[in-house]
Formats: sequence, structure tokens, C-alpha cells
Amino acid sequence: MSRALVLNATYEPLCVVPSRRAAVLVLDRKAEVLHDTGTALHSEHLTVPVPSVIRLRSFVKVPYRRRAPLNRRGVFARDDHRCQYCAGAAESIDHVVPRSRGGEHTWENVVAACRSCNVRKRDRLLHETTMRLQRRPTAPRELTWVVVAVGSVPTHWEPYLHPATLSA
Ligand SMILES: [Zn+2]
Repeated sequence: MSRALVLNATYEPLCVVPSRRAAVLVLDRKAEVLHDTGTALHSEHLTVPVPSVIRLRSFVKVPYRRRAPLNRRGVFARDDHRCQYCAGAAESIDHVVPRSRGGEHTWENVVAACRSCNVRKRDRLLHETTMRLQRRPTAPRELTWVVVAVGSVPTHWEPYLHPATLSA
């Protein structure tokens, strides 16, 4: 199932939904199509282009500043699938301050790691080892949730997303 990027009335990216859901918003005249996939969705009476980017006709207030959900896929995307200790291929996630030592499950304390670094570090603090982080882990900036949601961003979505935040 393909997905569509939903923009607020102000063109601010809001979320990613299944294309079928986006098509319903368009049919209900709640949104307009900014970009379609070139394929069509057939229902009993209608044939509609499958939307890829839509914009809501009325403004939706976003109640909080969106923080990308912390999960393995998101950590791997942020860390370029590289172990943050040795730059090898990442296979797992590691808590920099181990959970057993009070480390939190937050973006700032979780990094992608290869299995051997993970095993080597065990439940020690960084200064108790000779291992060093390649860079300090931070929460991805606002729009990385789009990347997290779809894995990779279709090229034609890029103009609608802020390029500076995407490369974070
Ligand atoms: Zn490693």
C-alpha cells in the first residue's frame, strides 16, 4: 500500500497516511491533491488518482511539538546504520548509560551499535571502557518522523519537507 504525505493548510507537513485514506480526504473535499502517483484508485462508481501529497483545506492546530518516536528503525536512520562506536554495520541498539545503571530510553542515550561493540561494552559506563562515541546522540529534528514513518522519502516529497531538517 502506498502512502501519502499530508500537509497542513499552511503547507507544513503533518503526517503520513495510507494513500487510500488520503483519497477519501480528497473525495470528501477536505484536502486537495498537490501531487499524485500517476496511478488510479477504483471504487464502485469512481476512479480517482492515488494521491501522494495532499494539503488540508482547513488549518489543523498541532497541539504539541512533534518528537519523533524512539524506535530501532529511527535510531538506525539517525545513525546512518553505523555502529556509533566503531563505524561498522549496526545490528542492534545500545544504551550509552546502561539501563541497569540508570540510563534512560531516550534519543540522547540510545545509539546504533554492532553486536561486538554491544557485547564488549556490557553494562559499563563509557569512561570505564576504551570505547568512544563517534558523535553525541541527539533527538532527530522535527521532520525526521517522516523518514521514520516511511523508511525513505520519495524524491517528489522533498520540496514539501524542509531540506535542512531532513539531513539531520
Ligand atoms: Zn561497533
